Amino acid sequence: MPLEVTDKATGAPIGSVPVARADEIAQVVARASQAFAGWSEVPVAERVRLLFRYADALEQRREDLALSVSRENGKTLTDARAEVRRGIEAVEFACGMPSLMMGDALPDVARGVDCVSMRYPLGVCAGITPFNFPAMIPLWMFPIAVAAGNTFVLKPSPQTPLTSELLFETARECRLPDGVLNVIHGERETAEALIEHPGVAAVSFVGSSAAARAVQERAVRAHKRVQALGGAKNYLIVMPDAVNATTRDAVVGSAFGGAGQRCLAGSVVVAVGDAGDRLAPMLVDAVSRLRLGRGSDEGVEMGPVVSDDALARINGYVERALASGAVALRHPERSRGAPDLPGAFVPPIIFDRVDPESELARDEIFGPVLAIVRASSLDEAIGIANRSRYGNASSIFTRDGSAAREFAARIAVGMVGVNIGVAAPMAFFPFGGVKDSIFGDLRCHGKDAVAFYTQQRVVVSRWPS
Ligand code: NAD
Repeated sequence: MPLEVTDKATGAPIGSVPVARADEIAQVVARASQAFAGWSEVPVAERVRLLFRYADALEQRREDLALSVSRENGKTLTDARAEVRRGIEAVEFACGMPSLMMGDALPDVARGVDCVSMRYPLGVCAGITPFNFPAMIPLWMFPIAVAAGNTFVLKPSPQTPLTSELLFETARECRLPDGVLNVIHGERETAEALIEHPGVAAVSFVGSSAAARAVQERAVRAHKRVQALGGAKNYLIVMPDAVNATTRDAVVGSAFGGAGQRCLAGSVVVAVGDAGDRLAPMLVDAVSRLRLGRGSDEGVEMGPVVSDDALARINGYVERALASGAVALRHPERSRGAPDLPGAFVPPIIFDRVDPESELARDEIFGPVLAIVRASSLDEAIGIANRSRYGNASSIFTRDGSAAREFAARIAVGMVGVNIGVAAPMAFFPFGGVKDSIFGDLRCHGKDAVAFYTQQRVVVSRWPS
């Protein structure tokens, strides 16, 4: 049975991909293993020459890629374009591999003895990716892996598999040798077969925490190198000195951009002192003006969520919160809500004075739902954020340098924003969190990815005269 893909706003079919059978998975891994023998011996300068070409070709197809992302995911074209841009930046980062892969050397570590460390590729690497960034997250992985001399098998999300086909078609046009880049499709079982295949040396995963934990455990049992990035609940701390239009826009963009389906979505505002009283009406006003619709239509600011299952999960949170007496801030115009389209549209909603230990403030809802929690001090706000099981990102909004400094030092996350709503590191820095937001040590892109996709070898030599 092929996987049928729909336009998430209209429900119209836009393509399908075949699900890989077990024997096909084995064939693809065998092809990637065969290709590794030749590709790993291509000098790194030549490998990146192809990647320079690839970055250029992606640039030429930016608009096609953005449209593909917008249709199969539902996000706005503006968001999709930004995602593609971020993905291309990861290819540009990979083009620096000749310098990035360099090892260290130290002559005369002992009398007449020299020591050199070198980085070698691992073999066939696998990538398993989520629905929410169908272009960017695969591009975090395979360009860096193949620049380092590995070959790659990607299994993208079954909900958004078409963009990866476009990414790989573009790579074929750039004449990357056969078998270097491979894509297979399927659901969890396909991913599991890939992880367990003895021909796969390393697994990169991005998705929910439950799946990330399962992937890490499975990979470790099979003695594979693994990095598994999981879910998130990101807290935006707003100090009383930062209640202004810039903060409002940053919070709205963070909480409702991509319909809240980002691992960097700031879905809880922790308002310190009287910040909440002043900020809440500003947020409600801004959110009530967000234009919902088909992401690929001009002027639309929020698309649907990815599926009816996601809609049901999000509505479940909203209904349980309302039933437990949570204060929903509703704007009279909000009832205009969802457009008349079959997609899974969720009108954005804001809850105020949310119990910091409630599921609204603790669970990853992954939809356009913002909780405002009140705190009396920065210390209390940091405590609230740090009690989360997740630790992906967190931001502070303030004009006070010492508050920002204290926040950056004490907040338990991997990515910290100061007056930034979405603290996404660019491709030359590592991307990832702590606690249940990551399983494994090394993060995506940046130097962490170079370390992940290479193994070190140390050569100690003496040449007696
Ligand atoms: P998901 O976990 O449902 O699926 C992600 C991928 O894993 C898919 O390809 C899926 O087929 C596969 N999969 C699912 N269960 C698996 C299992 N047990 N073993 C092996 N593979 C499995 O995630 P999703 O709904 O596609 O994406 C949303 C989630 O991804 C959110 O939790 C979000 O926070 C997270 N995410 C995290 C980051 C990050 O950088 N930490 C970035 C983007 C998304």
